[in-house]
Amino acid sequence: MTNPPGRAEKLSRSAGSVVFDADVLVLGGGPAGTWAAISAAERGARVVLADKGFCGTSGATAAAGTGVWYVDPAPERREAAMASREKLGGHLQDLRWMARVLDRTYAQSNQLADWGYPYPSDDDGKPQRNSLQGPEYMRLMRKRTKQAGVTILDHSPALELLVDGNGVVAGAAGLRRQKGDRWVVNAKAVVIATGGCAFLSKTLGSNVLTGDGYLLAAEAGAEFTSMEFSNAYAISPAFGSVTKTLFYSWSSFTDEEGSVIPGASSKGGRSIIARALRKGPVYARLDEADAETQRHMRVSQPNFFLPFDRTSLDPFTQRFPITLRLEGTVRGTGGLRIVDDSCATRVQTQLSQYATRAAR
Ligand SMILES: Cc1cc2nc3c(=O)[nH]c(=O)nc-3n(C[C@H](O)[C@H](O)[C@H](O)COP(=O)(O)OP(=O)(O)OC[C@H]3O[C@@H](n4cnc5c(N)ncnc54)[C@H](O)[C@@H]3O)c2cc1C
Repeated sequence: MTNPPGRAEKLSRSAGSVVFDADVLVLGGGPAGTWAAISAAERGARVVLADKGFCGTSGATAAAGTGVWYVDPAPERREAAMASREKLGGHLQDLRWMARVLDRTYAQSNQLADWGYPYPSDDDGKPQRNSLQGPEYMRLMRKRTKQAGVTILDHSPALELLVDGNGVVAGAAGLRRQKGDRWVVNAKAVVIATGGCAFLSKTLGSNVLTGDGYLLAAEAGAEFTSMEFSNAYAISPAFGSVTKTLFYSWSSFTDEEGSVIPGASSKGGRSIIARALRKGPVYARLDEADAETQRHMRVSQPNFFLPFDRTSLDPFTQRFPITLRLEGTVRGTGGLRIVDDSCATRVQTQLSQYATRAAR
Protein backbone atom coordinates (compact mmCIF):
# COMPACT_ATOMS: atom_id res chain seq x y z
CA MET A 1 0.00 0.00 0.00
CA THR A 2 1.40 3.44 -0.85
CA ASN A 3 1.17 6.33 1.57
CA PRO A 4 -0.59 9.59 0.67
CA PRO A 5 1.82 12.47 -0.02
CA GLY A 6 3.43 13.72 3.17
CA ARG A 7 2.49 10.60 5.14
CA ALA A 8 5.41 9.04 6.99
CA GLU A 9 5.75 5.30 6.88
CA LYS A 10 5.50 3.28 10.08
CA LEU A 11 8.20 0.67 9.61
CA SER A 12 7.86 -1.62 12.56
CA ARG A 13 6.69 -1.99 16.10
CA SER A 14 9.09 -4.15 18.04
CA ALA A 15 11.08 -4.39 21.24
CA GLY A 16 9.13 -1.60 22.94
CA SER A 17 9.62 0.90 20.07
CA VAL A 18 7.58 2.14 17.17
CA VAL A 19 9.79 3.08 14.22
CA PHE A 20 8.94 5.60 11.48
CA ASP A 21 10.75 6.44 8.28
CA ALA A 22 10.40 10.11 7.28
CA ASP A 23 12.04 12.78 5.17
CA VAL A 24 11.59 15.45 7.82
CA LEU A 25 11.16 15.07 11.57
CA VAL A 26 9.88 18.13 13.43
CA LEU A 27 10.45 18.28 17.18
CA GLY A 28 7.89 20.54 18.85
CA GLY A 29 4.36 21.42 17.76
CA GLY A 30 4.00 25.13 18.54
CA PRO A 31 3.74 27.73 15.74
CA ALA A 32 7.32 27.15 14.55
CA GLY A 33 6.91 23.36 14.41
CA THR A 34 3.47 23.27 12.81
CA TRP A 35 4.35 25.85 10.13
CA ALA A 36 7.56 23.93 9.34
CA ALA A 37 5.70 20.60 9.19
CA ILE A 38 2.96 21.96 6.92
CA SER A 39 5.47 23.65 4.65
CA ALA A 40 7.57 20.47 4.27
CA ALA A 41 4.52 18.24 3.74
CA GLU A 42 3.07 20.60 1.11
CA ARG A 43 6.32 20.18 -0.82
CA GLY A 44 5.84 16.41 -0.85
CA ALA A 45 8.02 15.42 2.11
CA ARG A 46 6.99 12.63 4.48
CA VAL A 47 6.81 14.40 7.83
CA VAL A 48 6.55 13.28 11.44
CA LEU A 49 5.97 15.87 14.19
CA ALA A 50 6.60 14.88 17.81
CA ASP A 51 5.43 17.05 20.71
CA LYS A 52 6.02 16.44 24.39
CA GLY A 53 2.47 17.70 25.07
CA PHE A 54 -0.61 17.73 22.85
CA CYS A 55 0.23 19.62 19.65
CA GLY A 56 -2.18 22.55 19.47
CA THR A 57 -2.44 23.11 23.22
CA SER A 58 1.18 22.98 24.36
CA GLY A 59 3.81 25.73 24.45
CA ALA A 60 3.89 29.48 24.92
CA THR A 61 1.52 30.52 22.12
CA ALA A 62 -1.24 27.95 22.66
CA ALA A 63 -2.05 29.40 26.09
CA ALA A 64 -1.53 33.04 25.27
CA GLY A 65 -2.60 35.95 23.13
CA THR A 66 0.11 36.78 20.63
CA GLY A 67 0.97 40.18 19.22
CA VAL A 68 2.03 39.79 15.58
CA TRP A 69 4.36 42.06 13.56
CA TYR A 70 1.84 42.44 10.73
CA VAL A 71 2.86 45.45 8.66
CA ASP A 72 1.51 46.57 5.32
CA PRO A 73 4.10 45.93 2.55
CA ALA A 74 4.22 49.61 1.50
CA PRO A 75 7.98 50.40 1.66
CA GLU A 76 7.62 53.45 3.88
CA ARG A 77 5.55 51.47 6.43
CA ARG A 78 8.05 48.62 6.44
CA GLU A 79 10.99 50.98 6.87
CA ALA A 80 9.29 52.81 9.74
CA ALA A 81 8.47 49.48 11.45
CA MET A 82 12.04 48.25 11.13
CA ALA A 83 13.50 51.56 12.30
CA SER A 84 11.42 51.54 15.49
CA ARG A 85 12.48 47.96 16.33
CA GLU A 86 16.11 48.69 15.48
CA LYS A 87 16.13 51.45 18.04
CA LEU A 88 14.55 49.18 20.65
CA GLY A 89 17.16 46.49 19.98
CA GLY A 90 20.16 48.80 20.19
CA HIS A 91 20.79 48.62 16.41
CA LEU A 92 22.11 45.08 16.71
CA GLN A 93 19.59 43.52 14.31
CA ASP A 94 20.20 42.12 10.85
CA LEU A 95 17.99 44.23 8.59
CA ARG A 96 17.72 41.55 5.91
CA TRP A 97 16.28 39.10 8.45
CA MET A 98 13.88 41.72 9.77
CA ALA A 99 12.59 42.24 6.23
CA ARG A 100 12.27 38.48 5.79
CA VAL A 101 10.31 38.14 9.02
CA LEU A 102 7.98 40.94 7.92
CA ASP A 103 7.41 39.28 4.53
CA ARG A 104 6.69 35.86 6.04
CA THR A 105 4.49 37.25 8.80
CA TYR A 106 2.40 39.20 6.31
CA ALA A 107 2.01 36.23 3.94
CA GLN A 108 1.26 33.71 6.68
CA SER A 109 -1.19 35.94 8.54
CA ASN A 110 -3.10 36.31 5.28
CA GLN A 111 -2.87 32.56 4.78
CA LEU A 112 -4.44 32.08 8.21
CA ALA A 113 -7.33 34.33 7.15
CA ASP A 114 -7.79 32.19 4.02
CA TRP A 115 -7.84 29.10 6.24
CA GLY A 116 -10.66 30.64 8.27
CA TYR A 117 -8.95 32.20 11.29
CA PRO A 118 -11.58 34.57 12.79
CA TYR A 119 -9.69 37.87 12.78
CA PRO A 120 -11.71 40.72 14.34
CA SER A 121 -12.49 43.83 12.26
CA ASP A 122 -12.18 47.48 13.23
CA ASP A 123 -15.07 49.95 13.19
CA ASP A 124 -14.60 50.44 9.41
CA GLY A 125 -14.78 46.70 8.79
CA LYS A 126 -11.03 46.36 8.12
CA PRO A 127 -9.65 43.06 9.47
CA GLN A 128 -7.14 43.41 12.33
CA ARG A 129 -4.33 40.94 11.76
CA ASN A 130 -1.76 42.10 14.31
CA SER A 131 -2.93 39.83 17.08
CA LEU A 132 -3.87 36.15 17.44
CA GLN A 133 -5.71 34.25 20.15
CA GLY A 134 -3.42 31.33 20.93
CA PRO A 135 -6.08 28.64 21.50
CA GLU A 136 -7.94 29.37 18.22
CA TYR A 137 -4.70 29.84 16.28
CA MET A 138 -3.10 26.61 17.45
CA ARG A 139 -6.32 24.61 17.07
CA LEU A 140 -6.34 25.70 13.43
CA MET A 141 -2.63 24.90 13.04
CA ARG A 142 -3.15 21.38 14.38
CA LYS A 143 -6.02 20.86 11.96
CA ARG A 144 -3.96 22.10 8.98
CA THR A 145 -0.97 20.00 10.06
CA LYS A 146 -3.12 16.87 10.04
CA GLN A 147 -4.73 17.82 6.75
CA ALA A 148 -1.27 18.25 5.22
CA GLY A 149 -0.67 14.54 5.96
CA VAL A 150 1.81 15.01 8.81
CA THR A 151 2.00 12.15 11.31
CA ILE A 152 1.61 13.75 14.76
CA LEU A 153 3.01 12.00 17.83
CA ASP A 154 1.39 13.65 20.86
CA HIS A 155 2.69 13.31 24.41
CA SER A 156 5.93 12.12 22.86
CA PRO A 157 8.98 14.02 24.13
CA ALA A 158 12.16 13.73 22.10
CA LEU A 159 15.00 12.51 24.28
CA GLU A 160 17.91 12.24 21.85
CA LEU A 161 19.04 12.86 18.31
CA LEU A 162 20.25 9.84 16.37
CA VAL A 163 23.76 10.44 15.10
CA ASP A 164 25.82 8.15 12.87
CA GLY A 165 29.51 7.40 13.33
CA ASN A 166 30.42 10.56 11.36
CA GLY A 167 28.31 12.86 13.53
CA VAL A 168 25.58 13.15 10.88
CA VAL A 169 22.09 13.51 12.39
CA ALA A 170 19.78 10.80 11.08
CA GLY A 171 16.63 11.25 13.18
CA ALA A 172 15.64 11.22 16.82
CA ALA A 173 14.13 9.02 19.50
CA GLY A 174 11.86 9.61 22.44
CA LEU A 175 9.02 8.35 24.60
CA ARG A 176 5.31 7.86 23.94
CA ARG A 177 4.14 8.67 27.44
CA GLN A 178 0.56 7.53 27.02
CA LYS A 179 1.49 4.25 25.33
CA GLY A 180 4.43 3.48 27.59
CA ASP A 181 6.80 2.74 24.73
CA ARG A 182 9.48 4.53 22.69
CA TRP A 183 9.45 6.12 19.27
CA VAL A 184 12.27 6.21 16.78
CA VAL A 185 12.11 8.32 13.62
CA ASN A 186 14.73 7.85 10.92
CA ALA A 187 14.78 11.15 9.03
CA LYS A 188 16.91 12.97 6.47
CA ALA A 189 16.39 16.30 8.23
CA VAL A 190 15.38 17.26 11.77
CA VAL A 191 13.73 20.59 12.58
CA ILE A 192 14.23 21.68 16.18
CA ALA A 193 11.18 23.73 17.18
CA THR A 194 10.95 22.93 20.88
CA GLY A 195 10.54 26.57 21.87
CA GLY A 196 12.61 28.58 24.29
CA CYS A 197 13.60 27.87 27.86
CA ALA A 198 11.61 29.44 30.70
CA PHE A 199 10.90 26.41 32.87
CA LEU A 200 9.39 27.27 36.28
CA SER A 201 9.41 31.00 35.46
CA LYS A 202 5.63 31.05 36.04
CA THR A 203 5.07 32.71 32.64
CA LEU A 204 1.98 31.32 30.98
CA GLY A 205 2.56 28.16 28.92
CA SER A 206 6.25 27.96 29.72
CA ASN A 207 6.53 24.97 31.99
CA VAL A 208 6.92 22.60 29.04
CA LEU A 209 9.75 24.79 27.75
CA THR A 210 12.71 23.10 29.37
CA GLY A 211 15.22 23.82 26.60
CA ASP A 212 15.34 20.19 25.45
CA GLY A 213 15.95 21.13 21.80
CA TYR A 214 18.91 23.27 22.78
CA LEU A 215 20.39 20.39 24.74
CA LEU A 216 19.86 17.86 21.93
CA ALA A 217 21.41 20.23 19.41
CA ALA A 218 24.33 21.08 21.69
CA GLU A 219 25.01 17.37 22.16
CA ALA A 220 25.19 17.06 18.37
CA GLY A 221 27.66 19.97 18.18
CA ALA A 222 25.41 22.96 17.38
CA GLU A 223 26.57 26.48 18.19
CA PHE A 224 24.54 29.08 20.07
CA THR A 225 24.17 32.79 19.60
CA SER A 226 23.00 35.86 21.53
CA MET A 227 22.33 33.95 24.75
CA GLU A 228 23.57 37.02 26.65
CA PHE A 229 20.33 38.76 25.58
CA SER A 230 18.02 36.06 26.93
CA ASN A 231 17.67 37.48 30.42
CA ALA A 232 14.62 39.71 29.88
CA TYR A 233 12.16 40.02 32.74
CA ALA A 234 8.56 40.88 31.90
CA ILE A 235 5.86 42.52 34.02
CA SER A 236 3.02 40.37 35.30
CA PRO A 237 0.36 40.73 38.00
CA ALA A 238 1.84 39.16 41.15
CA PHE A 239 -1.14 36.76 41.22
CA GLY A 240 -1.03 35.83 37.52
CA SER A 241 1.15 34.44 34.75
CA VAL A 242 0.30 36.62 31.72
CA THR A 243 3.25 38.82 30.84
CA LYS A 244 1.80 41.49 28.52
CA THR A 245 4.43 44.10 29.20
CA LEU A 246 3.18 46.34 26.38
CA PHE A 247 0.00 47.06 28.34
CA TYR A 248 2.07 48.62 31.11
CA SER A 249 3.00 51.46 28.73
CA TRP A 250 -0.31 52.91 29.96
CA SER A 251 0.43 52.24 33.63
CA SER A 252 1.46 54.24 36.63
CA PHE A 253 3.65 52.45 39.20
CA THR A 254 3.38 53.08 42.92
CA ASP A 255 4.86 51.76 46.15
CA GLU A 256 3.07 50.47 49.26
CA GLU A 257 2.25 54.02 50.44
CA GLY A 258 0.81 54.94 47.04
CA SER A 259 3.72 57.20 46.03
CA VAL A 260 4.67 57.18 42.34
CA ILE A 261 8.01 55.39 41.79
CA PRO A 262 10.12 57.85 39.76
CA GLY A 263 11.40 56.38 36.46
CA ALA A 264 9.42 53.12 36.76
CA SER A 265 8.13 52.16 33.32
CA SER A 266 7.60 49.17 31.03
CA LYS A 267 10.13 50.53 28.52
CA GLY A 268 13.45 51.69 29.90
CA GLY A 269 12.29 51.62 33.53
CA ARG A 270 12.10 47.94 34.39
CA SER A 271 15.38 48.00 36.33
CA ILE A 272 13.84 50.64 38.57
CA ILE A 273 10.84 48.35 39.14
CA ALA A 274 13.23 45.49 39.94
CA ARG A 275 15.05 47.62 42.51
CA ALA A 276 11.75 48.78 44.03
CA LEU A 277 10.55 45.16 44.30
CA ARG A 278 13.58 44.36 46.45
CA LYS A 279 12.35 46.93 48.98
CA GLY A 280 8.64 46.05 48.97
CA PRO A 281 5.53 45.54 46.84
CA VAL A 282 5.09 47.51 43.61
CA TYR A 283 1.64 48.30 42.26
CA ALA A 284 0.45 49.11 38.74
CA ARG A 285 -2.72 50.76 37.48
CA LEU A 286 -3.41 51.09 33.76
CA ASP A 287 -4.83 54.54 34.32
CA GLU A 288 -3.29 56.15 31.24
CA ALA A 289 -5.34 54.06 28.79
CA ASP A 290 -8.28 56.01 27.38
CA ALA A 291 -11.63 54.34 26.68
CA GLU A 292 -10.69 53.47 23.08
CA THR A 293 -7.35 51.94 24.12
CA GLN A 294 -9.08 49.95 26.86
CA ARG A 295 -11.48 48.54 24.30
CA HIS A 296 -8.60 47.55 21.97
CA MET A 297 -6.77 45.89 24.84
CA ARG A 298 -9.76 43.75 25.71
CA VAL A 299 -10.34 42.71 22.09
CA SER A 300 -6.71 41.94 21.31
CA GLN A 301 -5.69 40.14 24.53
CA PRO A 302 -8.77 38.88 26.42
CA ASN A 303 -6.72 36.43 28.47
CA PHE A 304 -4.86 39.32 30.11
CA PHE A 305 -8.13 40.32 31.80
CA LEU A 306 -9.24 36.89 33.03
CA PRO A 307 -7.56 37.00 36.45
CA PHE A 308 -8.83 40.57 36.96
CA ASP A 309 -12.39 39.76 35.97
CA ARG A 310 -12.40 36.68 38.18
CA THR A 311 -11.38 38.75 41.20
CA SER A 312 -13.62 41.72 40.23
CA LEU A 313 -10.59 43.99 40.05
CA ASP A 314 -10.61 46.76 37.45
CA PRO A 315 -6.96 47.23 36.34
CA PHE A 316 -7.80 50.61 34.77
CA THR A 317 -9.03 52.17 38.00
CA GLN A 318 -7.67 49.98 40.82
CA ARG A 319 -4.04 49.28 41.54
CA PHE A 320 -2.76 45.72 41.72
CA PRO A 321 0.55 44.19 42.83
CA ILE A 322 2.98 43.27 40.05
CA THR A 323 6.13 41.23 39.77
CA LEU A 324 8.79 40.51 37.15
CA ARG A 325 8.99 37.08 35.52
CA LEU A 326 11.98 35.73 33.65
CA GLU A 327 11.06 35.05 30.02
CA GLY A 328 14.31 33.20 29.31
CA THR A 329 14.65 32.51 25.61
CA VAL A 330 10.89 32.33 24.88
CA ARG A 331 10.91 35.80 23.34
CA GLY A 332 13.25 34.64 20.59
CA THR A 333 16.31 36.27 22.08
CA GLY A 334 19.15 33.77 22.00
CA GLY A 335 19.24 30.25 20.69
CA LEU A 336 20.73 27.99 18.04
CA ARG A 337 23.04 29.73 15.58
CA ILE A 338 21.68 29.38 12.07
CA VAL A 339 24.02 29.64 9.13
CA ASP A 340 21.83 30.20 6.09
CA ASP A 341 18.37 31.13 4.86
CA SER A 342 17.12 27.56 5.30
CA CYS A 343 17.76 27.99 9.06
CA ALA A 344 20.30 25.14 9.04
CA THR A 345 22.85 24.90 11.84
CA ARG A 346 26.41 23.71 11.28
CA VAL A 347 25.41 20.21 12.38
CA GLN A 348 25.28 17.91 9.37
CA THR A 349 22.11 16.01 8.50
CA GLN A 350 21.67 13.43 5.78
CA LEU A 351 19.87 16.10 3.76
CA SER A 352 22.60 18.74 4.16
CA GLN A 353 25.25 16.15 3.24
CA TYR A 354 23.31 15.33 0.10
CA ALA A 355 22.94 19.05 -0.74
CA THR A 356 26.68 19.61 -0.25
CA ARG A 357 27.54 16.65 -2.52
CA ALA A 358 25.03 17.81 -5.16
CA ALA A 359 26.54 21.31 -5.17
CA ARG A 360 30.06 20.00 -5.85
C1 LIG B 1 3.47 34.84 28.14
C2 LIG B 1 4.12 34.94 26.79
C3 LIG B 1 3.67 35.85 25.87
C4 LIG B 1 4.25 35.92 24.59
N1 LIG B 1 3.76 36.82 23.71
C5 LIG B 1 4.29 36.89 22.47
C6 LIG B 1 3.78 37.80 21.52
O1 LIG B 1 2.87 38.55 21.82
N2 LIG B 1 4.29 37.80 20.26
C7 LIG B 1 5.30 36.95 19.92
O2 LIG B 1 5.73 36.95 18.77
N3 LIG B 1 5.83 36.11 20.83
C8 LIG B 1 5.35 36.05 22.07
N4 LIG B 1 5.87 35.20 22.98
C9 LIG B 1 6.97 34.37 22.56
C10 LIG B 1 6.46 32.99 22.14
O3 LIG B 1 7.14 32.05 22.92
C11 LIG B 1 6.76 32.67 20.69
O4 LIG B 1 6.36 33.67 19.81
C12 LIG B 1 6.16 31.35 20.18
O5 LIG B 1 5.38 30.63 21.09
C13 LIG B 1 7.32 30.51 19.76
O6 LIG B 1 6.84 29.43 19.05
P1 LIG B 1 7.60 28.04 19.10
O7 LIG B 1 6.85 27.13 18.22
O8 LIG B 1 9.04 28.29 18.82
O9 LIG B 1 7.54 27.57 20.62
P2 LIG B 1 6.30 27.14 21.54
O10 LIG B 1 5.05 27.77 21.10
O11 LIG B 1 6.70 27.38 22.95
O12 LIG B 1 6.19 25.57 21.26
C14 LIG B 1 7.21 24.68 21.61
C15 LIG B 1 6.64 23.29 21.56
O13 LIG B 1 7.72 22.35 21.72
C16 LIG B 1 7.27 21.30 22.55
N5 LIG B 1 8.45 20.64 23.15
C17 LIG B 1 9.31 21.11 24.08
N6 LIG B 1 10.25 20.19 24.35
C18 LIG B 1 10.00 19.11 23.56
C19 LIG B 1 10.60 17.83 23.39
N7 LIG B 1 11.68 17.43 24.08
N8 LIG B 1 10.08 16.97 22.47
C20 LIG B 1 8.98 17.32 21.76
N9 LIG B 1 8.35 18.51 21.91
C21 LIG B 1 8.86 19.39 22.79
C22 LIG B 1 6.35 21.96 23.56
O14 LIG B 1 5.44 21.03 24.13
C23 LIG B 1 5.64 23.00 22.67
O15 LIG B 1 4.44 22.49 22.11
C24 LIG B 1 5.32 35.09 24.26
C25 LIG B 1 5.79 34.17 25.22
C26 LIG B 1 5.20 34.10 26.46
C27 LIG B 1 5.74 33.11 27.46
